[in-house]
Amino acid sequence: MRTLTKDTPNKIGEQVTLMGWVNVRRDHGKLIFIDLRDRWGIIQVVFNPKNKELLALADKLRPEWVVRIEGIVKERPSGMQNSELPTGNIEIEAAKLEILAEAKTPPFDIASDGHEIGEDNRLKYRYLDLRRPRLLKNLSARDKIISFMRDYLHKKDFIEIETPILTKSTPEGARDYVVPSRLHAGSFYALPQSPQQYKQLLMVAGVERYFQIARCFRDEDTRGDRQPEFTQLDLEMSFAEEEEILGLTEELYIGIVETLYPDKKISQKPFPRISYKDAMEKYGTDKPDLRKNKDDKNELAFAFIVDFPMFEWKKTDPSTSSGQGKGRWDAVHHPFTKIKNSREEISEKNAEKLSALQYDFVLNGYEIGGGSIREHDPEILEKVFEIMGNKKEDIRRQFGHLLEAFKYGVPPHGGIAPGIDRLVMILEGEPNIREVIAFPKTGDGRDLMMNSPSELLAGQLKELHIKIEKQKEK
Ligand code: ASP
Repeated sequence: MRTLTKDTPNKIGEQVTLMGWVNVRRDHGKLIFIDLRDRWGIIQVVFNPKNKELLALADKLRPEWVVRIEGIVKERPSGMQNSELPTGNIEIEAAKLEILAEAKTPPFDIASDGHEIGEDNRLKYRYLDLRRPRLLKNLSARDKIISFMRDYLHKKDFIEIETPILTKSTPEGARDYVVPSRLHAGSFYALPQSPQQYKQLLMVAGVERYFQIARCFRDEDTRGDRQPEFTQLDLEMSFAEEEEILGLTEELYIGIVETLYPDKKISQKPFPRISYKDAMEKYGTDKPDLRKNKDDKNELAFAFIVDFPMFEWKKTDPSTSSGQGKGRWDAVHHPFTKIKNSREEISEKNAEKLSALQYDFVLNGYEIGGGSIREHDPEILEKVFEIMGNKKEDIRRQFGHLLEAFKYGVPPHGGIAPGIDRLVMILEGEPNIREVIAFPKTGDGRDLMMNSPSELLAGQLKELHIKIEKQKEK
């Protein structure tokens, strides 16, 4: 049976078998020491010169070789303890060594925190970069936060439901990633920008309380803290008003901080609710940093920004179908958001004045989530799409399923979708979200380890009915 490094301090005098990586090897004349590393930590192993064969084998060891070591857990001689390691009072006196895998010299230092190493290299050899204790800790913190969310929501009777990845475009303001269909030549799936329409359809289905740790895909231009794919805690509730959704979110986030990050201080509870207008007037942004002391690593200033305008004027984007002319009204959040104004007031000429039941969730100057109460009257929803410049037949083609579903007894509903990546980044004090994602992409959307995106084989293209137009040489 294997013993983990973290369990060795309780096994003084016992024979143990350890497995892991050689962190460092030190030659001290006749003795050889190695620091053996597993996911839980490091322990010192000593090879005694009495066993010549064993010593000769230990002499071959190099950093990152994978080994199996049998030996006795011993207290270290006095004066040789290392108070910085949890296993610093003990060491393993090796009796047997088996080399399970050799390793090439790694392209960079694995023992450091890694901030000093060029990111391209770290991403190319991500499986080595992840051996760094800092990154393993980030992955584990992420897992704990997600588990907490799941437990909390299950206790509140939410059901976690998976929604499709191969789907149809959801208009949430970004470009879609598309997937060609082999069976339906010339047709495409889109990867979801979020499960927005599915979660609303689950409300029609009577699920009432849904959540999902959902992957979202948005083909946007490079911006510092964005990834082509990212993770959200996506949730939706029927018969709930704004205050119930914000209250639930607040309780969940206070729970996460107080349980998993007890050293951190939340600046204000309940979280302040600031109107969009006040935020813009007072702070000049809709994601204000409300920390009292911005140098304090442990301060968390959560807030909800509420009362957003429904529409904003968007200059022409020639790549969209509605991109002709000088511009159009676009939804500030998304078209499914409920407008506060009366039915009679909802028209294109009033677009600028219409106010939405939308809320954003901010933390320390970052937008960490957003949501809204949804418009569940299919006629008003159709009107919203029209104000946004869509033709009647396009609305039916793109959203017919939703408008139809809303004719079969739709409960009033609303939801929110806080991002996981930014939250973990802030709680772990990391400078960007790539540090808390196992396999992130570069700023220009490449996976340097898998070398993706990449070209397809001619046969694959043919099967997918795709012809590539060669880019003209410049
Ligand atoms: N789907 C929205 C988003 O991803 C959030 C929501 O309205 O629930 O921003």
